[in-house]
Amino acid sequence: MNAKASGVPAITFEMHPSERRLPEDVRANLLKSPGFGQVFTEHMITLRWSEKLGWHDGKLEPYGPLTLDPSAAVLHYAQEIFEGLKAYRQESGPIVAFRPYANAARFRRSAVRMAMPELPDEAFVQAIELLVTQDRDWVPANADQSLYLRPLMIATTPALGVSKPADSYLFTLIASPSSGIFSGGVRPVRVWLAEGFSRAAPGGTGEAKTGGNYAASFAGQRQALDHGCDQVVWLDAVSHRWVEEMGGMNLCFVYGSGKDARLMTPALTGTLLPGITRDSLLTLAPDLGIPASEGAISLDQWQAGCESGEITEVFACGTAAAITPVGEVRSSHGGWTIGDGQPGPVTMRLREQLLGIQFGRVPDPHGWIHKIL
Ligand SMILES: *Cc1c(COP(=O)(O)O)cnc(C)c1O
Repeated sequence: MNAKASGVPAITFEMHPSERRLPEDVRANLLKSPGFGQVFTEHMITLRWSEKLGWHDGKLEPYGPLTLDPSAAVLHYAQEIFEGLKAYRQESGPIVAFRPYANAARFRRSAVRMAMPELPDEAFVQAIELLVTQDRDWVPANADQSLYLRPLMIATTPALGVSKPADSYLFTLIASPSSGIFSGGVRPVRVWLAEGFSRAAPGGTGEAKTGGNYAASFAGQRQALDHGCDQVVWLDAVSHRWVEEMGGMNLCFVYGSGKDARLMTPALTGTLLPGITRDSLLTLAPDLGIPASEGAISLDQWQAGCESGEITEVFACGTAAAITPVGEVRSSHGGWTIGDGQPGPVTMRLREQLLGIQFGRVPDPHGWIHKIL
C-alpha cells in the first residue's frame, strides 16, 4: 500500500551534514590499511520509532556518540538487531551496493522475531543511498577494499519493566571502510569445535541477526583463541552432532574435485543465520557448473570425509570476509586437516566470481548490483 494512501507519513531524512570536513590527507591515511570495523566515516543516519508517531525524526548527521537513558531497554534486555552489507567502488567508476533489498528483508524478519517495528525496505535502502552518497570519498578505491555498512536498531524505552516489548526504538546506520575481517587475503583459518557451548537453540533467535547471539558466542570464541584457532564452529544445540556455522559466517563443503566437484551447505533449520553470501553462492556455483545443494553434515561425517578424500575443500562465507578457506579443524580430542590445508580451486573460483560481480569485473546476470552513484 502506498504510504500516502494509508495515511502513514512517508519516511524522510533531513540533511544535517557536518560543516567541517576531515582534511583529505588524514582520510587518505586512514584508508591505507583500515582493517575491519575500526575506522568510521564522517556521518551517520538516525531514525526513531514510537508507538504514537511511527517512524519519525530521520536525519543524516555527523558521526558521533548516541545519548541513551541508562534505563533504555536495549542496555538491560538486549532488544537489538543489526545488518551488514557493503558498498563497492567498481573499477569503471560507479559505487554500488550488493543485494541491499535482501538485507532489508532480513532486517524486517529479525525485527519480527525480536518484537520490534519493521522498517520498510525503501527506507532501509534510502538510508544507505544517502549515507554512501554523503560519504562517497570514504568508499575505498584500493583493490578488494570496500565500505562496510552497519544498520542497527535498538530499544530506547527508558523503563525496566518486561511485561511488554519496548515502545520506542532508534534505527542507526554507520559506515566503515574495511579491508575484510581476515587480513592477508585468503589465508586459511583454523577452526575450533565448541563443545559445551551452544550458539542457538530451536525456537530461539539463531536465525535473527541480533547481538545476543554474539554475546552468547564469545566464551566459545575465547576458547578457540586460547587453543590457537581463529574461529568457533557451532554444532546443533540438541544432539551436538550436526554442523551449523562458523562464528559470523556460514559454511560450505566441497565434495569431489575437477568436473565432479559439488557444493553442500547446511540447510536453514531455524538455528542458522540465513546468509546472503550463502544464498548467492547457491546460485553462483551452478552458474559455474558446480552443482550446489542444502543438506546436513555431522561432525563424524566431516572428519571421515576429509580422511577418505571425499571432502576436498571447506570454506566459510559472509559479507565481511566474502569467502575464507578453512584449513584445519581442532577440538579437545584432536583434529584434522582439510585437503592439504591450503585454499582449494573451487573455493578460489567462487571467491573470484563473487568479488568479480561485486567489483564489476564480470557481468551480473542476477541483478544483484544496486547502483548508488
Ligand atoms: C551475518 C551473519 C552471517 C553471514 O551473512 P551474510 O548475509 O552472508 O553476511 C552468517 N552467520 C552469522 C551468525 C551472521 O551474523
